[in-house]
Amino acid sequence: MSNPCLKCPTEQSCCRELHGLKVNEAEYTKHFKGKSEHLSISQKGKLYEISSLGNGPCPNWDQQCQVYGNRPMDCDLYPYTIGNVFADKGEVYATFHSRTECPLTAQLLGPREKAAELIRNFLVETYGEQMKITVRYDEGAARVYHLARRAASKAKRLLSGSAT
Ligand code: SF4
Ligand code: SF4
Repeated sequence: MSNPCLKCPTEQSCCRELHGLKVNEAEYTKHFKGKSEHLSISQKGKLYEISSLGNGPCPNWDQQCQVYGNRPMDCDLYPYTIGNVFADKGEVYATFHSRTECPLTAQLLGPREKAAELIRNFLVETYGEQMKITVRYDEGAARVYHLARRAASKAKRLLSGSAT
């Protein structure tokens, strides 16, 4: 099967403008440690959140992903993405959504159950099997995002109409 990302209308901007990728310690060590010169990295508990500085590319990008077969879970998940993750007193609660900028979202989005399973396995690996793990799709955030995008496109259309 051909890879639809090779015909990405944004020229694979999800890798060339890295923004808010969530990785665990093992993924951070394997793919980002020692390559942090042009990255903004924040650590929240057991997760790292990684963005490129000044809209630069992911350090693993060179014409294409150089670690694709072993890429971080959050990359594999895209165009779903992890939202909030709370870990406290033996429980981990995580949300995910699909309010991403991927122009092929409708084509690429797989079943939610599969995405939730991928996240669950990632959280077990990150926090340990003893934790109770809950993963939920965030309908509200997804709806707000799509309404905001619709409003933005409408405003753009109105503005371009008034400019003529
Ligand atoms: S996931 Fe979406 S934005 Fe990223 S390369 Fe593929 S089509 Fe483009
Ligand atoms: S690790 Fe690979 S798939 Fe993930 S953002 Fe970087 S280049 Fe893209």
